Amino acid sequence: MNLVPDNRITALKDIEPDVDKEFVLYWVINFKRTSYNFALQRAVEWANKLNKPLLIFDPLILDYPMSSVRFHKFFLEGMKDIDEDISKTKAFYYPYAEETPNASEDLLTILSSKAAVVVTDDYPTYFVPQMTAKAKGVINTRYEIIDANGLIPIRIAEKEYVRAHDFRRYMHKNLLDFLVDVPEENPLNKLEVEFDDKLIKDIDSKWNKINFETFNQEDFLNNLNIDKTVKESPIIGGYKKAKERLDYFLENGYNDYATLRSHPSEDASSQLSPYLHAGHISPYEIFVKVNELESWSMENVNPAFVGRRQGWWGGSENLESFFDELITWRELGYHTCVTRANYDQYSSLPEWAIKTLEEHANDPREYVYSLQQLVNSETHDEIWNAAQTQLREEGIIHNYLRMLWAKKILEWAPNPKLALSYMIDLNDRFALDGRDPNSYSGVFWSLGRYDRAWGPERKIYGKIRYMTSENTAKKFKLGGYLEKYGSKI
Ligand SMILES: Cc1cc2nc3c(=O)[nH]c(=O)nc-3n(C[C@H](O)[C@H](O)[C@H](O)COP(=O)(O)OP(=O)(O)OC[C@H]3O[C@@H](n4cnc5c(N)ncnc54)[C@H](O)[C@@H]3O)c2cc1C
Repeated sequence: MNLVPDNRITALKDIEPDVDKEFVLYWVINFKRTSYNFALQRAVEWANKLNKPLLIFDPLILDYPMSSVRFHKFFLEGMKDIDEDISKTKAFYYPYAEETPNASEDLLTILSSKAAVVVTDDYPTYFVPQMTAKAKGVINTRYEIIDANGLIPIRIAEKEYVRAHDFRRYMHKNLLDFLVDVPEENPLNKLEVEFDDKLIKDIDSKWNKINFETFNQEDFLNNLNIDKTVKESPIIGGYKKAKERLDYFLENGYNDYATLRSHPSEDASSQLSPYLHAGHISPYEIFVKVNELESWSMENVNPAFVGRRQGWWGGSENLESFFDELITWRELGYHTCVTRANYDQYSSLPEWAIKTLEEHANDPREYVYSLQQLVNSETHDEIWNAAQTQLREEGIIHNYLRMLWAKKILEWAPNPKLALSYMIDLNDRFALDGRDPNSYSGVFWSLGRYDRAWGPERKIYGKIRYMTSENTAKKFKLGGYLEKYGSKI
């Protein structure tokens, strides 16, 4: 088995494993999958090295910020797929859904007291860094967080990249080195020691692990004390659906990706972001599948195009365009969150953006809407209302309309700081892919991050890039979209 490279490993407790303990513990937080997962691979590596079995603990926390039945359903569906995958291996899967807040904290304490090594996920945003740091207080053995976020390790960049162009150059210069160490497709196949259920007999009887053969998800969610105003999305979570969606995209949308990705009525983008956010599928797997489809390999790379949006990969225009989103843009967001502590604060915007926004903060607004009016799609703008309805009802929103959606919130909120807080609230509360490093990329992009000043200077926007619903309506055929989402207002 390939070893997990050092640039993916951060030891939060840099001590020797406690070899007298019973198993290696992998505590799942973000990388909720069994394939192409460096964190799981590292846990297998430790288990084999210490000749111990592996327990995979996957707690579903009840009371995290913005938690709702929408995300719980999506995560539970993902856990069911993991359960099925792990049942065919030597590892033991411990899926646990809290029914009272913080119940899993004691379970983590008990499980880690029996662990020779604890491995968990290294994710740079949301409450995860605080939670993994806090766990140092209860874990008394070697404790590592592992980065399985993308193709580029998140912790080794020497500086913050403030434009996609700069990050693209960094990536082009280094990616081939990073691709030398690729994650195993199925690390659990390499696990040597079988887990004996007796090791956790007493624990299992107190903290009931989910038994998916008898688990009634609907009843469970109905009885749970959780926000139900954010309704379940029709989109089903889990690796199986993610893989289905990937296959569908590669057969149908991918061939038109470069030209039709921005068209809201077309089905040309992957719609994989909810699955990527939940960790149900690895970006590495998507990369591999596109390479297979296009017969692309590292030999295709054209170094003369370092830093350019097109040409460096030496592939089709669809490949160039798709990898620019999946790798450049997606991973830029992760890097910003790692290199900038205030990544989710107004103060993190570029100086020119703050200056121009402040100069126009008191400009008269023709329309001012409250957060609740925005939630309910109660604006005068038919396109915006439809986009918000899609977000509120289904938990997704098309990329182009998402840009317009954010720009309009800047225009209609009482001031830019409130606009930012409305955007974060709506995006994180309703979007299946919200609470992600790229939630902040997208929201902050609409206020100038990664962008430049644009002229002419306009009211409210100042020099921030401007978008209008009228132009959007001219540019795209929106009839079908408006019929579908407009009627629900
Ligand atoms: C206001 C605003 C808010 C956003 N909030 C989120 C969010 O909460 N979570 C999120 O993942 N993305 C967010 N984005 C980025 C982008 O809208 C989505 O990633 C994209 O629409 C997902 O659709 P897809 O999976 O079909 O993308 P595809 O076009 O198929 O791209 C493949 C993958 O590349 C990544 N990607 C694509 N576009 C971008 C982009 N512009 N920036 C960063 N990564 C990208 C995503 O992981 C995506 O799944 C936001 C953008 C804006 C303007």
